[in-house]
Amino acid sequence: MTKNISVLGSTGSIGVQTLDVARMHGIRVSALTANTSIDLIEQQAREFRPQMVAVLDEDSAKKLKIALSDTDIAVYGGEEGIREAARCAQADTVVNAIVGIAGLMPTLEAVSAGKNLALANKETLVAGGKVVREAMKKHGTKLYPVDSEHSAIFQCLQGCPEGALKKVILTASGGSFYGKTRDQLRNVTVEDALKHPNWSMGRKITVDSATMMNKGLEVIEASWLFEVPDEQIDVLIHRESIIHSMIQLKDNSVIAQLGVPDMRIPIQYALTYPQRLESPVKELDLSEIATLTFGRPDNETFECLGICRKALRLGGLYPTVANAANEAAVALFLDGRIGFLQIPEYVGNAVESFSDNKEDFDLEDILTADRETRARILT
Ligand code: NDP
Repeated sequence: MTKNISVLGSTGSIGVQTLDVARMHGIRVSALTANTSIDLIEQQAREFRPQMVAVLDEDSAKKLKIALSDTDIAVYGGEEGIREAARCAQADTVVNAIVGIAGLMPTLEAVSAGKNLALANKETLVAGGKVVREAMKKHGTKLYPVDSEHSAIFQCLQGCPEGALKKVILTASGGSFYGKTRDQLRNVTVEDALKHPNWSMGRKITVDSATMMNKGLEVIEASWLFEVPDEQIDVLIHRESIIHSMIQLKDNSVIAQLGVPDMRIPIQYALTYPQRLESPVKELDLSEIATLTFGRPDNETFECLGICRKALRLGGLYPTVANAANEAAVALFLDGRIGFLQIPEYVGNAVESFSDNKEDFDLEDILTADRETRARILT
């Protein structure tokens, strides 16, 4: 293939699977980035021979530079290094698989450099949807969703006439604690939260799935991607994760995208759109699955979905605040410093107490709201 990509967050769950897809289809890789995982990124660099690699942590970058000194691969460190990878001259598409709002500035850097985006980093759109959309319009770039639900909707929308969409229906596995009561959630551990029934993902998104924050973030992400308001986004619990999402049209036809739960399908589609190429993913055998089940989310026990919907309706900087509070609370939970039920408490309190909203805001406002929300929780 003639495609040439820069993979931000190449050492994470999505990053590694992106490189699987690149390997299978001979997609050229020009840049790789990580936070601290230098052993893995060195291995990836030796295999894919990119022009450059970047590591956020400066000490790790120094070590990597020594490790790769027998190659002609340039090694960068720090935030500027990650941004360098986002604007890497040889790449036409930037895969953003960084976790958290740390992905926002590299996204904007990539768009300013005229790159198309294959976006997994949902926090970018939740916190910065407005500025990303403005930048994309200005630079004429395209965005292909990698998140499986949004890829499913994007796939369902192909060939759909403008104005035909009635609503989008996001499916949710329900995460590790589906069916549990608040009492049962009081003493769950980090290890319990990290046991997702269907998907093997990074730690933060796995916790987000357990709290249903992930679905809340996805509702906001969907509203930016498909220009639909909260009322036109339905969420359905579907434990099997076979239907990745659906759309309902004006005539009440429902179109769904199905497949085994494997992120390499949406990653590949984002990189090869509109083509359909061979995939290493297992075929879906519905006779083996036999039953697909559906239900309504339990919004009383898992409050984060409702909080995100509220933040979306309030608009402005509220989604940024909800996202920042969640990132800080999940970090505390993963560190063993707060309990599972405190995550929705922190997110809910941050949204309720936020009093500095703006209708017309810019990047600086987003970064300030993010920083101040985190600081209130972490100090
Ligand atoms: P991981 O935690 O597995 O990987 C994150 C990647 O980002 C790693 O390469 C990590 O480097 C790097 N990274 C971490 N912090 C920073 C930072 N501050 N600055 C720059 N790079 C950083 O996450 P996932 O792959 O699970 O998720 C990535 C994104 O994709 C998230 O936004 C998630 O919500 C979304 N997503 C993930 C899915 C999945 O199946 N995993 C499905 C759908 C969406 P290092 O290895 O050195 O720590």
